[in-house]
Amino acid sequence: MISFSRFEQQLPTKQLQKGRFYFEEELVCNLNESAPGIWSADVSGKEDYRVQLTITNDEVAQIHCDCPHEVEFCKHVVAVLYGIAEKTGTQEEKDFVRLVNEMPVERLREVVIRVGEGNGEFREVVRTQQYLLSL
Ligand SMILES: [Zn+2]
Repeated sequence: MISFSRFEQQLPTKQLQKGRFYFEEELVCNLNESAPGIWSADVSGKEDYRVQLTITNDEVAQIHCDCPHEVEFCKHVVAVLYGIAEKTGTQEEKDFVRLVNEMPVERLREVVIRVGEGNGEFREVVRTQQYLLSL
């Protein structure tokens, strides 16, 4: 199963990169939670596709995208996951994002290096981001 809070660690890098691009280009439209955990959205591209999925107890299930791709987690589904993550962030998480955005880059670099000392998982997150940038 794919866990919503950890989908970036669980899905293939290539799919993440494509989906992230779609999300950042603001191609995810009409993102809507019709009932708790039941999500739908339209993802634009060369054509528009409708994505539906449910998130129950952090598990991503009942995934549907009407694009012709065979993979369950196509780039449209991944783009919608990024959209949901942005929309459902807690106030504390949103405050954290603002704080990071306002922090001078040099200071941020020091923080990243300090956290990375003695935290292999965090170092792996940074390496993955570097790899995504290089694609
Ligand atoms: Zn798709």
